[in-house]
Amino acid sequence: MNKAAALNTKPTYDVMKVRADFPILARQVHGKPLVYLDSAASAQKPRQVIETISRVYTSEYANVHRGAYFLSEHATAAYEAAREKVQAFVNAASVKEIVFTKGATEAINLVAATWGRKFIKAGDEIVLTAVEHHSNIVPWQLLREATGCVLKIAPVRLDGSIDIAEFAKIIGPKTKLVAVAHVSNVLGTVLPVREIAELAHAAGAKLLLDGCQGIVHEFVDVQDLGCDFYVFSSHKLYGPTGIGVLWARLELLEAMPPYQGGGDMIDTVTFAKTTWAPPPAKFEAGTPPIAEAIGLGAAIDYLNSLDRVAAAAHEKDVLRYAMSSLAQVPGVRLIGTAPGKASVQSFVMEGAHPHDLATVLDRSGISVRAGHHCAQPLMEILGVTATTRASFGIYTTMQEVDALIAGLHKAQQVLL
Ligand code: PMP
Repeated sequence: MNKAAALNTKPTYDVMKVRADFPILARQVHGKPLVYLDSAASAQKPRQVIETISRVYTSEYANVHRGAYFLSEHATAAYEAAREKVQAFVNAASVKEIVFTKGATEAINLVAATWGRKFIKAGDEIVLTAVEHHSNIVPWQLLREATGCVLKIAPVRLDGSIDIAEFAKIIGPKTKLVAVAHVSNVLGTVLPVREIAELAHAAGAKLLLDGCQGIVHEFVDVQDLGCDFYVFSSHKLYGPTGIGVLWARLELLEAMPPYQGGGDMIDTVTFAKTTWAPPPAKFEAGTPPIAEAIGLGAAIDYLNSLDRVAAAAHEKDVLRYAMSSLAQVPGVRLIGTAPGKASVQSFVMEGAHPHDLATVLDRSGISVRAGHHCAQPLMEILGVTATTRASFGIYTTMQEVDALIAGLHKAQQVLL
């Protein structure tokens, strides 16, 4: 067994068995085996999820919450069962706290447009960090335009870590909301969210966690994290696109006005006055993404069928192997090396633009992300216009890291 193959073998985790569940991983790209290293942008889907969605449309589909007939009742039960799976997955206190959205982006916009419009006033402060994704910046800028509130930005150290003492200085009596990534999609940094929760709450502010990457790489217990809002997208969690989750404490959801008006979110409607359904229906106007929600439930079932502790340990091993291998490639500089980070690795290579690098790697079947990763302010702080990013999932092998390294050596011959 070569070094890379030996590193894949953990007593309780068989990465090749996991890979066999993901049909797309068997395909070729440009005549080469696919090496998919862009799971942080979107993860591939296991057969169990694909088959569930196919089964829903083949034999179980109808609209939910409406029909008093077998198929509609069946679809409603499956849709609501998916909500219960999400509740258990994040350890929410009540299933009423799980709102389905079309993704994390919509979930943050929902909080900004409802809770934000009601509770944020001119001069109030919202604290973000320098590592945020545009999805956790722009909705707050829109809120700033509407209310006259102020955005304050907590700094990031050059290794990608957050200095909690510096963070504390930004929070003050005017802070009403702290909205930060659980895990950075560019740097892989796991933010010190428990300490941030304490600081936010001591100031009387609420804490929103953008859990897009956190839900994938960490074991999320929303009650233990101490946050007030947690959002994520299914498609990064091996589930379908078009569905995401807003978790919020029930009293917050109860106090928030609706986001959109329409069917399903009402109690009674007259032309004179409408009353709202209780949460979560209040925030789910119109026909929801039914098969997508059920598909997310299947993704959660799938993850629960694995040894998740072993899977997480495998991902960390892949990350460590990738970091040490990348560091040995001449001219490569790692971006994001904070202790305890998640399995997302950005880097730059001297003399090669990240886009050119990604294009050359693609010719060898290797999919990596190149660009600003929807974090332009962070790029500016890091002094780069773009990075190349390799991100790893439950199916990534050490051989794929070797393929990336070989691809980089080849790219140096082509590009330099
Ligand atoms: N926040 C982070 C940290 C992300 O990584 C992403 C996806 N790249 C988003 C927000 C936005 O997620 P979506 O596009 O699924 O709404």
